[in-house]
Amino acid sequence: MTTEDRNNKHPPQEEDITDITASDPALILIVDDDIFMRKILMRYLERENYRVVEAANGLEALKLFQECQPDLILLDAVMPVLDGFECCSMLQKIPQGDYTPILIITALEDRESVDRAYEVGASDYVAKPIHWAVLRHRVRHLLEQSNLRQKLESANRRLAVVVRELQRLVSIDGLTQVANRRCLDEYLEQEFKRSCREKVPISLVLCDIDFFKKYNDNYGHQEGDLCLQAVAQSISKATNRPADLVARYGGEEFVIVLPNTDQEGGMNIAVKATELVRSLQLPHNYSEVAPYVTISCGVATLFPHQHTQAINLLLKSADRALYVAKAEGRNCVRQSDIVND
Ligand code: GH3
Ligand code: MG
Ligand code: MG
Repeated sequence: MTTEDRNNKHPPQEEDITDITASDPALILIVDDDIFMRKILMRYLERENYRVVEAANGLEALKLFQECQPDLILLDAVMPVLDGFECCSMLQKIPQGDYTPILIITALEDRESVDRAYEVGASDYVAKPIHWAVLRHRVRHLLEQSNLRQKLESANRRLAVVVRELQRLVSIDGLTQVANRRCLDEYLEQEFKRSCREKVPISLVLCDIDFFKKYNDNYGHQEGDLCLQAVAQSISKATNRPADLVARYGGEEFVIVLPNTDQEGGMNIAVKATELVRSLQLPHNYSEVAPYVTISCGVATLFPHQHTQAINLLLKSADRALYVAKAEGRNCVRQSDIVND
């Protein structure tokens, strides 16, 4: 086997993991200080259609392992320089080393040596003189097991990607890509409890697009959807902290959750959100307050104490403030009195 051949053997990628045995004969690393033993093992395994590389001691084996990433290692126990047991435990510490099955070949059949072989991480052992039929089955069995393990791990990795994507999808509003109502409810609950524990205020901004029904009626539902997306993005840009959350509350209403934020902070974010939406300058010829799309905001702040109704109280206060903003001309921000439940 040439160096080029060896270098062509890469660790299996996601796609080819399912077909390792079919596409590529397994590569076996033989480690034995006895050249005669190496040669007969090599001839035997090549006749079994495996590819083979050889090392004369443990140190050589470690080097070769990193170079050619074998699928299985046949490891002599008693060798000069670095014996099979030490080599085996060092292999476990190399990345990928603990994944490669190791078959220790030993004339030492005392209980202590057998125990030691398993302790240092060997997958199995074969006694010398070699019983060839036993070796053949053990090699095949270990390769099959290793192949199955790799397939399983690959499937697990793919599953983890799918689960992450599903988790993202169940918490996001499909149209606007901000958090959905379900995510908002969970987040509010969680941050509300945190505010109670840490005795800090929590603020909430309720944003509503002005005269949006007229926008839809005149520009069409599709344009309405595009408008919702643009407004959601602008509102998101108004928030600064990682803990701030923008969610679609329903229809053309959005909520900004602002943990650890007092009334002044809440007002600042709300003003910024209205300004950002205004600066989009989305034409709205049917609005009665401006020639472009605007929002109105209601802000509520709560110093939470343990109270089960407090989240609802916060939402209701923000809603009342929004009502006032609408009544007092729209395209503006109003705040409710600080709520002490
Ligand atoms: P106000 O200034 O008082 O808020 O008036 P408004 O017209 O914005 O409020 P109203 O609640 O009367 O109308 C909300 C409109 O939002 C009604 C509906 O056509 C529109 N809407 C709700 N959800 C969606 C949506 O997902 N896509 C689109 N395009 N429009 C929506
Ligand atoms: Mg509304
Ligand atoms: Mg509206």
